[in-house]
Amino acid sequence: MVPTPQYAGARVVVMGLGKSGLSAATSLRASGAAVEVWDDKPQALAEGTAKGFAAFDGAAMNLAGVRSIIWSPGIPHGFPKNHALAMKARNQNIPLVCDVDLLVEAQPEAKVVAITGTNGKSTTTALTAHVFQQAGKRTAVGGNLGIPALDLEPLGAGGTYVLELSSYQLELMPHLACDTAVLLNITPDHLDRHGGMDGYIAAKRRIFAHQRPPRVAVIGIDDEPSTKLYDALRSDGLHKVIPISVTRTVAHGVYVSGHELIDESAGAPRMIVDLKTLARLPGAHNWQNAAAATAAALSQGIAPEAIAEGLRTFPGLRHRQELVTTAGQVAFVNDSKATNADAAEKALLCYDNIYWIAGGQAKEGGITSLAPLFPRIRHAFLIGEAAAVFADVLDGKIAFDLCENLESAVKKAGEMALASKQPSTVLLSPACASWDMFKSFEHRGDVFRETVLKLWPAGKRS
Ligand code: ADP
Repeated sequence: MVPTPQYAGARVVVMGLGKSGLSAATSLRASGAAVEVWDDKPQALAEGTAKGFAAFDGAAMNLAGVRSIIWSPGIPHGFPKNHALAMKARNQNIPLVCDVDLLVEAQPEAKVVAITGTNGKSTTTALTAHVFQQAGKRTAVGGNLGIPALDLEPLGAGGTYVLELSSYQLELMPHLACDTAVLLNITPDHLDRHGGMDGYIAAKRRIFAHQRPPRVAVIGIDDEPSTKLYDALRSDGLHKVIPISVTRTVAHGVYVSGHELIDESAGAPRMIVDLKTLARLPGAHNWQNAAAATAAALSQGIAPEAIAEGLRTFPGLRHRQELVTTAGQVAFVNDSKATNADAAEKALLCYDNIYWIAGGQAKEGGITSLAPLFPRIRHAFLIGEAAAVFADVLDGKIAFDLCENLESAVKKAGEMALASKQPSTVLLSPACASWDMFKSFEHRGDVFRETVLKLWPAGKRS
C-alpha cells in the first residue's frame, strides 16, 4: 500500500466506493486522515461503512474543512449534468481528485511515465512497463489498469510508475507532473462526459500540463486532433516532443518504415526492431503502441537493444488479440475486448481466412463500417442480441450461422476452419458489449478460451 501522509489530520471525503475508492479510503485512514465515505448507491455505501469508515452525510453535504473529495472517475460530475456534491465542492474551491492523484502526490521522488489515448492505452501501458522491467528498472504499473493505484508498492527515488490514465482520471489529477507523458491517438469517444470533442481533447491534453523537466511529450501524429496538439506542444518551447507515426517518417521521431521500427529521436535513424517478428503485437495499431513504448523507454535512458528485447518478450494482454491455441493450421484468437466496430476492425485487418464470432449487445453504428473487410471473412458465427441485426448486414455478402451461445459458435467455427485445411483464424472479436450474455468482456473471453481448450486440448498452447 502507498501511504498518503499529505492528508494526515485532514478531513477528506471519498466519493464512490468501488475498488479504487475503498483502496484510497484505506490508505488515507492508515495515514491519519479523518475519512468519510459516500456512494449514491446505498449498497456500496453499506459496504464502505461495514469496513469501519464513517459515512458522509450526502443529504446535508456539509463540506466544512474538507481538504479534497476523492472522486471515483467513473461517476459523472460535470457532464452530462452537474452532480450536486461536485457543484457544492467547486463553489467552495474544494478540489475533486482521483486515487491516482493521491499516488503521484505521495510519491514525488518516483518517476512517472503516464499514458493516455482513445485506444491502445492498456496495451501500451503493459508493454512499456514490461520493457522497463526487462531493462532492470524498478517499476510498478497501474492507474486505469490492474490494481488500484494506492495498492501498488511505494517506490520512492529510483522507481518508476507506469500509469494508464483515462480522460476521466486526467480531469481529476491536479498534482500530475509526469516525467514522460504519452498520448497515443484521439478519436471521438465519451463525448457526453466531456461536453463534446473540445472538452475531450482538453482532458487528454492535461497529461502534458505541469510536467517535470525535461518534459518529454510522446505524441502520435496519425490523427488530426493529435497533430494539432503536437504543433502546439512543439511551439510552446517547454516540451521535448517525440512524435510517433506508423504512416510516415518523421524527423526527430519514432516511426514505422515498411515493417521496421525506426528511432530518429536522437538524430541519425536507427532500427530498433523488425515489427513483423513481434507475434504478440500484430497490426499497425499495435505498432503504434510499440512506437510509443519505445519512445517512452528511450526518454528514460533505456538502451535500444534492451527495448528490442522487451518488445520481443512481451507476453501480450489477455482478451486483446490473445492467441489462445493453435490446432492444425487454425489459430484461435480471443479479442473479447473489441466491444465496438472500430476495435474489431483492427483485429480483422490482421488475418485472412477468418472464421468470425461476433455479436452481443449492439453498439451504435453496428458493423456496416466493416464491409471493406468482409472479403477476409470465410464465415461468421453470430451470437447474442445483435445477431439478427448483424445477419441483415451480412446477408448476401458472407455466409453466416446464427448460434445459440458462444460455446456452440466456437465449436462450429473451429470445426469449419479445420475442415477447410487452410491456414485460418477463428476470431472472437464481437464488435459488441458483453452485458447481454456475460458479466464482462473478460468473462466472455474466459468462456471462449475455456471452450477452445476443452475442444482442442492437444493444440500448441500460446
Ligand atoms: P484501451 O485501454 O485504450 O481501451 P487496449 O489496449 O485495451 O486499449 O485495446 C483495446 C482495443 O483497441 C484492442 O483490442 C484493439 O482492437 C484496439 N487498439 C489497440 N491499440 C490501438 C491503437 N494504438 N489504435 C487504435 N486501436 C487500438
